[in-house]
Amino acid sequence: MIQPRYLKEDKAVCRKVAFIGFRDREPIQMKKALSKKNLWETAPPLLKSTLGRGLGLIPPRWLLGKSFRANCKFIRDAQWWPAERAREYQLSRLREILELAFERSKLYRRLFSTAGFRPGDFQSLDDMNQLPTIDKHIVIENLSAMCTKSVTDNDVDYGSTGGTSGTPLHFYMNANRSSIEYAYLTTGWERVGYQLGMPIAVLRGRMVKPDRNGFHHEYDPILRHHYYSAFHLTDENMARYLEHVATIGPCFLHVYPSSVATLARFCHCAGICPPGNIRGIIAESEIVYLEQRRMVEETFGCRYFSCYGHSEKLVLASECEHSNDYHVWPTYGYFELLDESGNPVTTPGQRGEVVGTGFVNTVMPFIRYRTGDWATYVGDRCEACGREHVIIRDIRGHRTQEVLITANGSEISWTALNMHDDTFIRVRQFQFAQDKPGQAVLRIVPAAGFGERDANRIHHNLGRKLDGQLTFTVELVDAIPLSARGKAIYVDQRIPHEQRALLDLTDIV
Ligand SMILES: [Zn+2]
Repeated sequence: MIQPRYLKEDKAVCRKVAFIGFRDREPIQMKKALSKKNLWETAPPLLKSTLGRGLGLIPPRWLLGKSFRANCKFIRDAQWWPAERAREYQLSRLREILELAFERSKLYRRLFSTAGFRPGDFQSLDDMNQLPTIDKHIVIENLSAMCTKSVTDNDVDYGSTGGTSGTPLHFYMNANRSSIEYAYLTTGWERVGYQLGMPIAVLRGRMVKPDRNGFHHEYDPILRHHYYSAFHLTDENMARYLEHVATIGPCFLHVYPSSVATLARFCHCAGICPPGNIRGIIAESEIVYLEQRRMVEETFGCRYFSCYGHSEKLVLASECEHSNDYHVWPTYGYFELLDESGNPVTTPGQRGEVVGTGFVNTVMPFIRYRTGDWATYVGDRCEACGREHVIIRDIRGHRTQEVLITANGSEISWTALNMHDDTFIRVRQFQFAQDKPGQAVLRIVPAAGFGERDANRIHHNLGRKLDGQLTFTVELVDAIPLSARGKAIYVDQRIPHEQRALLDLTDIV
């Protein structure tokens, strides 16, 4: 296969940078910028707890610094801008990013030149269509050529995606992005009652070591975050987490949709009433399933709020006070929804791929990056709150393997199988494993009281949905491993893509 010239040339540079990236497997050991945030995160626990006593008395808005306060003020105001003003802002930020990329990034200079595009010609947002899109493969092959500065600089941080949908993506970004990102997130959370300084109980991907009593808990006095381990969700630990959360005052839970669903199922099975001091649930970083949202809201008796974003800092979208649709922040990045032919999706109800150009990462700009996520276009304004933002819903990872393959090669989405009833009521965790079309194993970590009646109910309810297209056996297991970042993997799909394509073809013939 003949490769484009720029890909060939950049390979030598790529190898050099990849060595920096892959030398250590743990992301925490990758290159970190010399920033206050990184220094704090890597400080010894003893130093943290000593300093923490004093820091806990200072309001977080002061601890997080002047630029954080300025960002919050800007975002609170800008979210209500009329669409025209937001478009002007986007035009000006895009000009900056495009000029920077053209001047400093080898990859973009080549891509723009090949497309006959010069940033000086950029006059309107529609001109973005002249630029080529890029994807994960281009990023992997051109890691350093994408950068606008040396990755060894002190203000450059290394980052990566978790890789639940395949290979992890490695990249570089500005050391100051966390302050901007956190300002957007917390301003979004304010829509459902969060106030900066309120404690947050976090049940996400952080590795939390147990203390001498075996309690998996850490506290960050700057952010007022209580971290619990999502990797150790046994009944005993969950009971301890909830008991502890009850003592931290009015708070929010910050979770993965899967970790809070496990917690809610536990409360239900064990007959435990969740702590009354939980004011809301912020669930991010995984697909939100409607029935999970309903179950969690019913169990905890408070609002379930979700945001959509990327580690690469492309675009960010949050729900609002009144709606579960995602409102795309116009000042965070430039959002496009493209159909399979690459044309903009403008009809409500039509689905398209999320393509993002981030404003936050200027070290390694992502310009027209195809995320592989698909969403339904709703409109350019939320009627419920009045914000003139692009509104989307039903975001799904197009390339995630959350599908089961039937005997004839067709795919059944996990979403379609997700049960709205009491099917998994006495189940702590579950996962389909499949290595043969038409057959699967349903792994189950049983909760207290799980018995034959539960297994029969699962067989009956799921069997009805599967309608003979796929048979499955139930296997009781002690644990189901989460992804490296603590996310649930609902379908452990081992059938190679090539084999699926062959099955499709056989079916047509
Ligand atoms: Zn709204």
